[in-house]
Amino acid sequence: MVDFAALRDDFPILHKPVHGKRLAYLDSAASSQKPQMVLDALQEAYGTHYANVHRGLHYLSEAATDAYEAVRQKVASLINAPSPSEVIFTSGATMSLNLIAHSWGGANLQEGDEILITIAEHHANIVPWQMVAQQKGAKLIAAPMAEDGSFDKAAFAACITERTKVISLPHVSNVLGTVYPLTEIAALARQAGALFVVDGCQGVVHMPVDVQEIDCDFYVFSGHKLYGPSGIGVCWGKADILADMPPFLGGGDMIDDVEIERSTYAPPPARFEAGTPPIAECIGLGAAIDYVQQIGMAAIRDHEMSLLRYGTQRLSEVDGITFIGTAAGKSGVISFTLDEVHPHDISTLIDHDGVAIRAGHHCAQPLMKSLGLSSTARASVGIYSCEEDFDALTEALHKVNRIFKS
Ligand code: PLP
Repeated sequence: MVDFAALRDDFPILHKPVHGKRLAYLDSAASSQKPQMVLDALQEAYGTHYANVHRGLHYLSEAATDAYEAVRQKVASLINAPSPSEVIFTSGATMSLNLIAHSWGGANLQEGDEILITIAEHHANIVPWQMVAQQKGAKLIAAPMAEDGSFDKAAFAACITERTKVISLPHVSNVLGTVYPLTEIAALARQAGALFVVDGCQGVVHMPVDVQEIDCDFYVFSGHKLYGPSGIGVCWGKADILADMPPFLGGGDMIDDVEIERSTYAPPPARFEAGTPPIAECIGLGAAIDYVQQIGMAAIRDHEMSLLRYGTQRLSEVDGITFIGTAAGKSGVISFTLDEVHPHDISTLIDHDGVAIRAGHHCAQPLMKSLGLSSTARASVGIYSCEEDFDALTEALHKVNRIFKS
């Protein structure tokens, strides 16, 4: 049995009072806090085995390379990838999605082809596809979500045509919390002969992921949401697909042979990792993966699900609250509005009570527009979140109501 209440002690920042109050950090969907183990790994990477990777023949370079490369295996084990050589390190999910859109899309999309997403995407899963669609004369199509924010399989399937070449979806919506039925969608993608890309930013942090069981072609995520450092992310892709993709960025480390007229490229993953990578950050991500795997992703999922139920029940006590996204089995986030109070005002006011939430469009403007909203408030959980955080949020929202109604 994991003592989740004790995990808070692993995160030094959570013990720093904010405006003199205990911090209730409910903004993990934007970026999570870091356990001491990750802070130590960063310190150790820079303090004991730092040098550039892959290039040096001296002790420190080899030690840094070994530590960096070892993280590929940790990522592969976290998502049950068949091989660590399918794991590409990027600067984050945004970079990973750009890599896929520009490299795979640039090489394979043709005029009239269709890329299918849903209306609930983060901008990182819209704009790169839009850019490549504009270059190629392809079309970006967004399927609607059901009214309660759940995935509408019939409406989605109706958007698939013989021109559908890519299906790119989140594992979990960062606004609605909806968990997409990935294995069912993978079957639709297979039938259509479309590439299936999963934006796993809000998935891998909350639940076990098995890319072989999902049967997707790509799964991407950001280290900073998984208790690791910022500046490091993952693009996992199937070996045969990666092998046929052209490089996205050119430079050192990604080549086989360079002449002034032309170059030949290294096989993946090096082909997609041009230049000096975020070395210490990658090692920090490895420590973050060790940390969550020690706890166990299934235990993390169960803990967070019961916390979300508690949070939803507590927040239901607040006058004028409307939940945005109420799909069964939702994960990670609770988005809401509060009568006429602007979400920015909510966030600013409750900050004085030490409660950190997000307010805005959450990089999902098409979703907001489809809901007739400009923004929502969003509370999101991490492994260190606890009932006390939702008690603090609930009390702070009662206070907001008192201010606005007086
Ligand atoms: N996709 C989803 C679902 C997200 O929630 C986010 C970040 O909030 C991203 C993509 C982009 O992640 P990053 O900014 O780390 O690249």
